[in-house]
Amino acid sequence: MKVASTPQPRARVLSMPEYHPPLGNRDTLRLDFNENTVACSPAVERAIRNMTAAELTRYPEREPVEALAAQQLDLAPEQVILTNGVDEAIHVLCQAFLDTGDELLLPVPTYTMYAIYASATDATLCTVQADSTLAFPFEALKAAITPRTKLIAIANPNSPTGSIATREQLITLAEAAPHAILLVDEAYFHFYGETVIDLIGKLPNLIVARTFSKAYGLAALRLGLLAGPVHLLRWTRRVLSPYSVNSVALTALTAALQDSAYIDWYVRQIKQARTEFLAALDTMGLQYWPTEANFVLVNIGTLHREFVSAMRDKAILVRDRSADPGCDGLVRITIGTPEQMHSAITTIQTFVRTYKLAGVVR
Ligand code: PMP
Repeated sequence: MKVASTPQPRARVLSMPEYHPPLGNRDTLRLDFNENTVACSPAVERAIRNMTAAELTRYPEREPVEALAAQQLDLAPEQVILTNGVDEAIHVLCQAFLDTGDELLLPVPTYTMYAIYASATDATLCTVQADSTLAFPFEALKAAITPRTKLIAIANPNSPTGSIATREQLITLAEAAPHAILLVDEAYFHFYGETVIDLIGKLPNLIVARTFSKAYGLAALRLGLLAGPVHLLRWTRRVLSPYSVNSVALTALTAALQDSAYIDWYVRQIKQARTEFLAALDTMGLQYWPTEANFVLVNIGTLHREFVSAMRDKAILVRDRSADPGCDGLVRITIGTPEQMHSAITTIQTFVRTYKLAGVVR
């Protein structure tokens, strides 16, 4: 019998692309990952420093912290699951719900990991392209719902566009697809302020995700949250590793949840910087898309590679999104503090002057 010389993965895994985030360059102003550009709350740092060696010897217990997070969201503890970042939340939802013949429905462009995790399942990916306004393609998405739709994932605000779906649109979609889960990914909630988390349990197929990687500044600890009705979360818990959120992260989150003043301060900074930065883009004559998040998508046109590299030369990292569907020439810039954005503006102004870019890409 002829045997393959090396074990082969499942066919779907064989055809999956590898995802390599462009990391590195730690000593730069990182406006390429939509992270908090300052730091987490000092209370978090203190809490981590005060951890004992004994605490590190025990397996983590996420339940008490889940209860605290649930309480802050006016939810019951059983309606909340903490995860190893929203990425794990997406992964476990795909694992628990996407079967052969099922469809994952996505408006695009959107966050990459929905398609990646779904591609490891036997489900089919169905995408609905936004038009050139990059606004949420509500009507087209509603029309794309089929009896096989099992999961609809909507980042709200969306990345990389910064666009939003209204509460009414989300309710309509949830009601139009009662046989599917509507996942509303509120990773950028704090910079927007609107949520549908209050509808958990009222809309039986609504699940909301939140991350602690953005406003909270805890991306390195990998902390996310799923809020949903008990009858759906119970299946998700079956495929979730019981210890995927570690004790350092749980300690940090407990402190972070108790320091809401820090989040309020950070979000105020970012909103002020966002207003100022968009005004500066207007003055420079650069086209951008309306945003409710801590980033903005800017049209640099054919010079997008030169732009990213000119910013990098000044130690500022921004993200070229040209490869995203409908995003040719578009670069996503994270909004940091007003001071950080002033230095970004100076660099962008030099680029615009050097290449006589103003108005050219409209
Ligand atoms: N959802 C969206 C829309 C995102 O942009 C990101 C991060 N880039 C995530 C989820 C991932 O969040 P986490 O760090 O919690 O895995």
